[in-house]
Amino acid sequence: MSDVIIIGGGIGGLSLALSLEKAGIGSTIYEATPVIQQVGVGINVLPYAMRVLAGLGLEKELEKRAITTRSSAYFDRCGRPLHQMPVGHFAGEIWPQLSIHRAELQTVLLDAVRERLGPNRIRTGWECTGVSSEQDEVCVSFRDRRTGQKLEPQRAGIVVACDGIHSKVRRQFYPNEGPPRYSGVFMWRGVTRRSKFLDGATMVRVGLPAVGKMVIYPIRDYDDGTQLINWVAEVEVPDPGSFCSKRDWNCPGDAKDFVEVFADWRFDWLDVPELISNAQTILQFPMMDRDPLPRWSFDRVTLLGDAAHPLVPLGSNGAGQAILDAEVLSRELAACRDPADGLARYESIRLPATAEIVMSDRAGGPDVILQEGEERLRLLVPVPAHRSAFPRSAEAA
Ligand SMILES: Cc1cc2nc3c(=O)[nH]c(=O)nc-3n(C[C@H](O)[C@H](O)[C@H](O)COP(=O)(O)OP(=O)(O)OC[C@H]3O[C@@H](n4cnc5c(N)ncnc54)[C@H](O)[C@@H]3O)c2cc1C
Repeated sequence: MSDVIIIGGGIGGLSLALSLEKAGIGSTIYEATPVIQQVGVGINVLPYAMRVLAGLGLEKELEKRAITTRSSAYFDRCGRPLHQMPVGHFAGEIWPQLSIHRAELQTVLLDAVRERLGPNRIRTGWECTGVSSEQDEVCVSFRDRRTGQKLEPQRAGIVVACDGIHSKVRRQFYPNEGPPRYSGVFMWRGVTRRSKFLDGATMVRVGLPAVGKMVIYPIRDYDDGTQLINWVAEVEVPDPGSFCSKRDWNCPGDAKDFVEVFADWRFDWLDVPELISNAQTILQFPMMDRDPLPRWSFDRVTLLGDAAHPLVPLGSNGAGQAILDAEVLSRELAACRDPADGLARYESIRLPATAEIVMSDRAGGPDVILQEGEERLRLLVPVPAHRSAFPRSAEAA
């Protein structure tokens, strides 16, 4: 029996296995997907999360595969600058801000888990179907994701559910909670290889979802001087209808559903329609979160990452907060003789902190700067009729 069972091998589960290993606690990850795939597109790892990853000895490997972001810049929908501020090292912080392909981050974590814990500590194709507390341990039921057949139940002293926004374990504890809360904003995310824009290391936010918004940043350098540019188009869509209604890391999207919102975004620093049209990959996601919970821990089971506190991705915080959860949980489990006390301390530190972020990101996070810019711009440049709302309903798309 391993000390801790981790359900889910995403960024949260993998970070937890590494943090526990550093604290001298063994664990095994049970991941539903038969083969761990490289999912998603770009992600920003903020300095607070880089501190933890550097403590796990991963900073150099991540820096090799990422762009070290220099600044965060805000523009109005006419492409005029509103505000710019340095970030990470360039703002005098000890730790950098990295913009990286999500698959690269996952690969670095996965390789470290396999190397430090051993390849058998990640079991794929094991889909958790429920947990039940016994005296001093927890029994976890599984089925084979490929065949649907029941697998041998597994037992451990502690179980941590890192099974994402649609967490089965969370649903077991909160059966009446219902689906995640849709924010009214739909996102299309893509990557495009092209020449550098601005200084080749700036994360930009432009516009607002009500009139079309883009978040754009480079995530990889190529030897020929080009870069892989990650972009997210955010558009208000009252009813996501026929688009992907469930947040899934790999749901394909189509440029024709949204490119016209950005048709005249040909700025002197970037041609946005061209960026979208030349994309290698386009994925779609409804922007969703969930209300903060009153508690995460039940006997010897707790929640971590998106299973505990999914966020709307306005502040680039979701993965970073999962990484912080992993650090705190490992530290508290190592410090407490009774694992239930460790879980309680973890929850008392992390639940209020993340609840605050859920609410502040829901309120717009850094988009308040864009809001202010749009209010001023509207006096000078009215919103074109086709952009005052999403041009077509999801049904018509
Ligand atoms: C569009 C978008 C942009 C984002 N940008 C950023 C950003 O820039 N910076 C940032 O920090 N965060 C960002 N995030 C958030 C971040 O990606 C998530 O918060 C983070 O991936 C959560 O990690 P997790 O491990 O908790 O969940 P997940 O990554 O969802 O992993 C859950 C894992 O559990 C597995 N699983 C599910 N059910 C079961 C089961 N029953 N049994 C076993 N395994 C199971 C899944 O297959 C998966 O591997 C963004 C999110 C979105 C949607």
